[in-house]
Amino acid sequence: MQHSLPLTTTPTAYLSQHAPDAPILFFAPSVLQATARRFQAEFEGLVTYAVKANDCAEVLSNLVAAGITTFDVASPAEMAAARAACPQAVLHYNNPVRSEAEVAAGIAAGVASWSVDDLSELAKLDRVSRNAEVAVRFALPIKGAAYDFGSKFGATPDEAAKILRKVAAMGFIPSVCFHPGTQCNDPTAWGSYVIEAARIAAMAGVTLARINIGGGFAADRGFGTPDHRAVFACVKKALTSAFGADAPDLLCEPGRAMVAESCVLATRIKGMRAGGDVVFLNDGIYGGLPDLRDMGLCALVSVFGPNGPRTAKSTSRIVFGPTCDSLDRLPDGLPLPVDTCTGDYVLFGGMGAYSISMSTAFNGYGVQKVEMVSDLD
Ligand SMILES: *Cc1c(COP(=O)(O)O)cnc(C)c1O
Repeated sequence: MQHSLPLTTTPTAYLSQHAPDAPILFFAPSVLQATARRFQAEFEGLVTYAVKANDCAEVLSNLVAAGITTFDVASPAEMAAARAACPQAVLHYNNPVRSEAEVAAGIAAGVASWSVDDLSELAKLDRVSRNAEVAVRFALPIKGAAYDFGSKFGATPDEAAKILRKVAAMGFIPSVCFHPGTQCNDPTAWGSYVIEAARIAAMAGVTLARINIGGGFAADRGFGTPDHRAVFACVKKALTSAFGADAPDLLCEPGRAMVAESCVLATRIKGMRAGGDVVFLNDGIYGGLPDLRDMGLCALVSVFGPNGPRTAKSTSRIVFGPTCDSLDRLPDGLPLPVDTCTGDYVLFGGMGAYSISMSTAFNGYGVQKVEMVSDLD
């Protein structure tokens, strides 16, 4: 298995030795496994992984090695990726809109849990075995995340109660799920959702088997370590106050916070203009850096030159990606050391999530290569 390869290199050692000209995603299995073990130790429930954050075979097999065997999948291709890493993988198919062909693929794959947020989608599950769980996804008008998932998916609480009643009447294992939005920095958001879950269950007259508290846990972007334990504490407090002794089981499905810190994206400067104010990288928003466009710049950026790390004071730059599209530009103001030169590497830390999984090959660029390393320098 890939997770057992002996790894002795770090990103900067690799860059010094190989001087790669294409972007590379350096992946440290040791960091990923430590994060997976921490989630499992701290969360009082089942920890699953949202495959869309990073579906690389190396990532999935290392999660399996760390004890994660249940996966949140959104498509038949993600089902196949999870099963390739773990033939016994338990699949939670939590994309609430599915074509008939996708439902059939989920049935064939033996999906254990399905989420729905509309009666029309529940009707499509009529042929699914009644041993399966169906979780009703609901959304609240709550802020706190970097961007809002509730604007796309999630029934209102009143609708959710109706759907939940029907789920139970059809004979499925009834549960609810939600997602507070990605990079959510407000632990009380989860607490509010858990309280609402109890109200929905009461309105429906249904005893919940489980509550899926989603993903959305923040990753470290260089502005301070996010406190996941505060989230778990809020969830537990809300669960106890809303359900008392008969609380449903919990599960969570982190994507970003599980995988982000295990990877560093190494990009290279192709050219500089305007006295260094304008920098052209070999990767950008169509490659491994779309998350910077969506979330803003991160502070985990360092520059590595021929003689090692650049340590001079920084000035802010305009940074373009390598394609011939003028939208291929990072948010303005990325600070880089004043002695930064063409040919230097710009390393972005915390880039395991929504980087390679969103990379395109537009204009012949993008992140194609993952290198496993023992440590991230
Ligand atoms: C994307 C997604 C996740 C993971 O979200 P993160 O913000 O990356 O933790 C979890 N559950 C569902 C249903 C998702 O769509």
